[in-house]
Amino acid sequence: MSTVKRRLFNVLAAVSLVLCMATAAMWVRSEWYGDRMDCNFAGTCRLSIETVPGGISSLLDVLWDDPNPPPRSIGLNSTRWGSPVYTRPGSIMGRRQIGTVQPWILPWVHHGFAAWHKQWSSTHAQYAIALPLWFVVLVTLVLPLLATRAAIRRHRNARRGRCARCGYDLRATPERCPECGSAVKPAA
Ligand SMILES: [Zn+2]
Repeated sequence: MSTVKRRLFNVLAAVSLVLCMATAAMWVRSEWYGDRMDCNFAGTCRLSIETVPGGISSLLDVLWDDPNPPPRSIGLNSTRWGSPVYTRPGSIMGRRQIGTVQPWILPWVHHGFAAWHKQWSSTHAQYAIALPLWFVVLVTLVLPLLATRAAIRRHRNARRGRCARCGYDLRATPERCPECGSAVKPAA
């Protein structure tokens, strides 16, 4: 991997690690609180994202030709679990009913995963997706783990006098790796 590519990879891995930690914190928080964000874009497109115990779901509502479009807005709110709205049976995560994912989505839900689309009319469509938070934590952990493994390998190779890129023995050719051609940084 070239230096530029490796730096880009490390930046992506760092962003992924931040997302992973934020998701882990949200996962713990989701057991007590439901967080919800509602956005209205130009009155035709509404996006809701919310957490449920152990999961996150989002609903995109596209409604063309709305006679009374709501103004553009972003709303955030949190609900402490235990309010009557959230204690109905038939939960997406097997525990609680949630607001964004409507009851007609429930047949598409399996172990907290759901992907769903419905065309209500030629001017009204809804798209929904739901994921368990453990899955998001796992997916965002992949890049940080790969970056850590690569860094450990580079460090170990450099310490043993081997090429950081391919691991070839550099004792005979300290300037340039004869195997992969990468220039070797002078030892500090
Ligand atoms: Zn090499």
